Amino acid sequence: MRDPFPLHDPLDRMSETAQLIDLDRQHVWHPYGPMPGRQENLVVSSASGVRLRLAAPAQGQEELVDGMSSWWSAIHGYNHPVLNEAATAQLGRMSHVMFGGLTHEPAVRLAEKLVEITPAGLEHVFLADSGSVSVEVAVKMSLQYWRSLGRTGKTRLLTWRGGYHGDTWQPMAVCDPDGGMHELWQGHLPRQVFADAPPGDFDTPVDPAYADHLRTLIAAHADELAAVIVEPVVQGAGGMRFHNPGYLRVLRELCDEYGVLLILDEIATGFGRTGVLFAADHAGITPDVMCLGKSLTGGYLTLAATLCTRRVADGISQGEVPVLAHGPTFMGNPLATAVALASIDLLLGQDWAGEVKRIEAGLREGLEGARALPGVRDVRVLGALGAVQLDHPVDVWAATRAAVREGVWVRPFRDLIYVMPPYVTGDADLARICRAVLAAAREG
Ligand SMILES: *Cc1c(COP(=O)(O)O)cnc(C)c1O
Repeated sequence: MRDPFPLHDPLDRMSETAQLIDLDRQHVWHPYGPMPGRQENLVVSSASGVRLRLAAPAQGQEELVDGMSSWWSAIHGYNHPVLNEAATAQLGRMSHVMFGGLTHEPAVRLAEKLVEITPAGLEHVFLADSGSVSVEVAVKMSLQYWRSLGRTGKTRLLTWRGGYHGDTWQPMAVCDPDGGMHELWQGHLPRQVFADAPPGDFDTPVDPAYADHLRTLIAAHADELAAVIVEPVVQGAGGMRFHNPGYLRVLRELCDEYGVLLILDEIATGFGRTGVLFAADHAGITPDVMCLGKSLTGGYLTLAATLCTRRVADGISQGEVPVLAHGPTFMGNPLATAVALASIDLLLGQDWAGEVKRIEAGLREGLEGARALPGVRDVRVLGALGAVQLDHPVDVWAATRAAVREGVWVRPFRDLIYVMPPYVTGDADLARICRAVLAAAREG
């Protein structure tokens, strides 16, 4: 099959890499991809530090500096000796054992650690196997809480537009309903209540009119709302928009006043990405339920967690069905929990806040030049996260090729070229990432 969009340098058609690419396109679904695949995926053979090594050169490059942390997750980079050691040690004991009726030290220690470092009041931990499932569990917890208290009408969710919470059914229902990835399923999803997207940027003062808008909606729907669910401070895959943390305090107060639970989805923002350990810390609030995922294992294995307060757990326990009826096969996986524990210790054992600040400064300086480029609408940086927004949909292939030519891996979407580098990215690599984003903005 001839590739209309080659990224690799010309390949010998009989080479192993060329064959892998052919098989990949014929048989393997990729995220949000067509079948058979249209665009050529780059073949990665190994990764170490902040570098992805390619099986065959692309645009003259054999290695790429990773600007994506594999979608927010690889905060310590790849092939880290400490995480490798944690995985290997656990592998020698057991990689998995069922969680029904059995428990083990890595899961218990991880839960203890999460309770310790998340906002005060979150005390109970459900270990799920992916971010989307942790959101499903958060929704189930919230609905079951009200059902247990006899408030069976409280089954809907409220969120603000521009959000993203995952790809399974309940999460899809609270993603932005317009122009988002799940628009196709309108009419088939539970109908939730949508507020306007939070206005402004991180530094824009709280707009009282918007706070009133939230109040009006929550008040009007209080009898049917189980929970408000939002991504705190950064709306990620819904558009890389930031908002004033004051809106989280507004939501906390309104939820308390009107008897609605507050779920914060920190799957992207958790573990330091925005400059504080959890984005809720910008606002100094505790949600009733919190979801964690992505960087929980430092990008090694899939694992997520749903935490809740004692009030939520107690409520569920008082019900006619006093249990949380959820239990994935790989719940609390020992390998994943052991690596998660090591990743958190590694993070907290260093000046992670200093590193994130350093990256924030590097991104601000390096991406500033994008403002002057034609077709660029906005440049936003918060913590170790930078986004260049164009005034048109990115030509993903052209933008990727331009970045790869600069020796950098980025994965644009919609009108955004964005990066969230591993915290261990050095200054020279960071500058290179920024140059690549500018090149991608020029060609994309
Ligand atoms: C990625 C993401 C999810 C979904 O997590 P998966 O592990 O991909 O299922 C949910 N919420 C937010 C905010 C995310 O960024």
